[in-house]
Amino acid sequence: MENLDWKNLGFGYRKTEYNVRCYFRNGKWGELEVSSSEYINIHMGATALHYGQEAFEGMKAFKGNDGKIRIFRMADNAARMISSCEGIMMEKLPSEIFEKAVKLAVNLNKDFVPPHDSGASLYIRPLLIGTGPEIGVKPANEYLFIVFVMPVGPYFPEGFKPTDLVIMRQYDRAAPQGTGKYKVGGNYAASMVAGNKAKKGGYSAVLYLDSKEKKYLDECGPANFFGIKENTYITPESDSILPSITNKSLMTLAAELGLKVEKRKVPYEELATFEEVGACGTAAVISPVKRIYDADEDREFTYGNEPGPWSTKLYNKLRAIQYGDEPDQYGWITFAE
Ligand SMILES: *Cc1c(COP(=O)(O)O)cnc(C)c1O
Repeated sequence: MENLDWKNLGFGYRKTEYNVRCYFRNGKWGELEVSSSEYINIHMGATALHYGQEAFEGMKAFKGNDGKIRIFRMADNAARMISSCEGIMMEKLPSEIFEKAVKLAVNLNKDFVPPHDSGASLYIRPLLIGTGPEIGVKPANEYLFIVFVMPVGPYFPEGFKPTDLVIMRQYDRAAPQGTGKYKVGGNYAASMVAGNKAKKGGYSAVLYLDSKEKKYLDECGPANFFGIKENTYITPESDSILPSITNKSLMTLAAELGLKVEKRKVPYEELATFEEVGACGTAAVISPVKRIYDADEDREFTYGNEPGPWSTKLYNKLRAIQYGDEPDQYGWITFAE
């Protein structure tokens, strides 16, 4: 492990030593099991494969200067997974099992937690799938929960840099009153065509408008959206947005730094008024945006080639808490042991 090039790991699958599993069978969750296999053996009729009974989470652990491993806002991820279970009728995974499994997976793979100064972290991927076979459309009676982890490099190995977003009205990620607010694989399948087109055009992501009226901002494919103007942090309110834990954290920190915080409907036209714009999520914390191109109207909104001062402050502050360089006043950190 010592010879891993932590800084240039990028973000991708990497085998680590162990993963942790828990099965729901005969009406109850079993004990945690440790596996060193990267494979699972499931029934070909599993509902996850046919009808999309699949939810996942994404979170990170960081090594402090004190050598301790800090897991960020694990309880919030556990709660969000329960919400996803409710959204697609899967057996609800108790938070205690979620948190125990995450800690165990991190501790079993301690050697893969990147050193403090690398800017890298351990990405944690909890996954819940319907494994019971059903060919008629109904929820499975068996489920599998797995937690696996992998080291990932810093999102900005060459420094905090802005990217471009694109608006394309012919694509929606989620329907109004659909599953957009749940962290389920189906939403990602639905966003791949647009996401791929955006990447090919040199954009980091699609900025989706509300799918009913195309009047308000929703979110980016895999990240929430925020804009800052007149000392106010503004993020869209919509029932098809996935509630980002990073966004929630940034709202808290923005208020602490002296910004007003507004979570409300954000009309498309407001894009012209923001001083700073960013996408936020676990992977990058903040991905600052320098330009949004509206491909339908051939119109662009620009925010400068360097990250704005508030985005930079928020980014540094959240990272400092995650790495234990600044005290955690909010109870966001769980030590792995
Ligand atoms: C996971 C996810 C996010 C970011 O959430 P975080 O909890 O901040 O990582 C944003 N949008 C979508 C659609 C997501 O799936």
